[in-house]
Amino acid sequence: MSFAELGLSPAILQAIEEQGYQQPSPIQQQAIPAVLSGRDVMAAAQTGTGKTAGFTLPILEKLSAGERARPNQVRALIVTPTRELAAQVGDNVRAYSEHLPLTSAVVFGGVKINPQMMRLRRGADVLVATPGRLLDLYQQNAVRFKQLEVLVLDEADRMLDMGFIHDIKKLLAILPKERQNLLFSATFSDDIRALAKSLTNDPAEVSV
Ligand code: AMP
Repeated sequence: MSFAELGLSPAILQAIEEQGYQQPSPIQQQAIPAVLSGRDVMAAAQTGTGKTAGFTLPILEKLSAGERARPNQVRALIVTPTRELAAQVGDNVRAYSEHLPLTSAVVFGGVKINPQMMRLRRGADVLVATPGRLLDLYQQNAVRFKQLEVLVLDEADRMLDMGFIHDIKKLLAILPKERQNLLFSATFSDDIRALAKSLTNDPAEVSV
């Protein structure tokens, strides 16, 4: 199977080619069509499987249609447990959207909040964020979710291990109810299943 057969458009295929990817990995073969179909997705995938492209590519494809993010608005929100992962996912988003008219931003704690507030004024089609800083930015009115279409929880098991469940619950309470939810986790413990149940609606289950 090729990336083109998965229904990705030429601008994204070009970026994939520039990354040197020859063919979609097993998680990508399953996740990309599921995300494109608009369904919620629950995916069991470790780092190294190509999971990031598995959710990022179809999200970029979907966001290519539709109105760009307005000031302070976000259309796809990717929440990660650590700043290292946020930075890495942000790098991937930038590379894959190289030939698309989409904007992205990355925000995490431990650095000054002001530059992030300034950046968010312009809006971001894709925002990659760690939970605590995201809530701080929301409380400061720097980020709004009126245009939100997709939420991704990446490495959800690590998020729970790191004690982010309350932040996640707070976040879910402020997001629009009508949205697509993607939950990626290396493991599926009872806690993750409970989170998946409260977060997703009839999810497509993907695992490698
Ligand atoms: P991830 O599991 O998302 O952390 O990705 C692991 C690594 O695999 C990253 O360096 C990606 O750039 C790379 N990668 C992702 N998808 C593919 C693919 N289809 N072919 C080759 N490499 C890939």
